[in-house]
Amino acid sequence: MIVELVSTGTELLLGQIVNTNAPFLAARLNELGFSVLYQTTVGDNRERMRNVLTAALERADIVITSGGLGPTQGDITKEVTASLLERKMYLHQASAERIEKYFAERHLCMPDNNLRQAMMPEGAKIVDNTCGTAPGVIVEEESTGKIIINLPGPPHELSAMFKISIVPYLIERFGIQGSIVSRVLRTYGIGESSLEERIKKYILAQSNPTLALLARNGEIHVRITARAENEAEALKLIDALENKIRPELDEYIFGTNEETLEMVVGNLLLNKSLSIALAESCTSGLVTSLITDVAGSSGYLTGSIVCYSNSVKIEQVGVPENIIAVKGAVSRETAEFMAQGIREKFQTGIGLSVTGIAGPGGATADKPVGLVYIAIDGPAGLTCFEHHFNGTRTNIKHRTALAALNHLRQ
Ligand code: ATP
Ligand code: MG
Repeated sequence: MIVELVSTGTELLLGQIVNTNAPFLAARLNELGFSVLYQTTVGDNRERMRNVLTAALERADIVITSGGLGPTQGDITKEVTASLLERKMYLHQASAERIEKYFAERHLCMPDNNLRQAMMPEGAKIVDNTCGTAPGVIVEEESTGKIIINLPGPPHELSAMFKISIVPYLIERFGIQGSIVSRVLRTYGIGESSLEERIKKYILAQSNPTLALLARNGEIHVRITARAENEAEALKLIDALENKIRPELDEYIFGTNEETLEMVVGNLLLNKSLSIALAESCTSGLVTSLITDVAGSSGYLTGSIVCYSNSVKIEQVGVPENIIAVKGAVSRETAEFMAQGIREKFQTGIGLSVTGIAGPGGATADKPVGLVYIAIDGPAGLTCFEHHFNGTRTNIKHRTALAALNHLRQ
């Protein structure tokens, strides 16, 4: 079965947003055994959208659009789909009521044009939107057996609708047998190409399970997907491949599936009954914020001080004035004093500190932008790590925060 993905939205063509819907759909469809042979992007223009859909329908069995299901005049995907398949549009009563209820529950006044979202092509299957107001649409063309599926643009709405409604529909409609199961191994601290090099033979030999690499927020994810008669058999295939891959990547794998670095660190601290306090300079609370993204973090996080100015470093966590004067605020020595100082101040098992140059200014000949020191004072003693990150100020802050969590894990 050949699938074409049609991403709609002028903002995609203008480069104002990055298309994440198409890669998401392509990966899932491939796992199901569909061949995604074309992906096209078209703006919110009736004539051009019609041309794109006409071409797509000629060369694919299933055309999946994303975007343009909303209430505004620019949201035209369903109308173009209907006119192409020669269907009239009608007001789908249940959708209209659901949209009205959505607004009423939030004590919002519903603008009239919101009912546009309840206008549907005749004979279409209506797909619930569990995260928003615009329902999705499936239209099957009887004479040719071809199918157009309209999904909403916002990525969280699209992914939820795809998983909850479209996958079961495709499985049933095309009699897809068995189970498809995925597991993601999350790595930190290794680049995509080095990682690929290490597991190259498995990538080249892949058939079932398949392997896919994805760089995401400073991590590289290895997604293993297996198809089998049932879930237990698919899991066995995944286990077997994971057992081969793990030794190649072991020190870099920190978790699986939804597990984040901050969750792994949280569990570790809980298991060791260790409390933690932080003194953050260049990350100004980002590490602490990540730690508190985990429910139950009050079980190990005592507190944190943003030690941005020299005076706070000196007065709040006891960095000696002469250390800052001689070695600098961004130095191994300052980081070490900060970690020890915060640990002592809050009487915790671990003190972690961060000091660095996030840029773009502030660099000197021997201290470039991206130079970061992370110190940890804990039961095993005092350790300080030197890093050189690159990227924008935000990139450097984010990379520093992940590195700090990763050091805690080790
Ligand atoms: P809405 O009801 O929000 O108008 P819609 O179904 O009409 O939803 P669009 O108006 O096309 O969808 O897009 C809404 C928003 O969803 C866009 O502004 C953008 O932020 C996001 N979006 C749309 N398409 C994509 C895409 N392909 N990849 C990533 N984000 C997207
Ligand atoms: Mg819209």
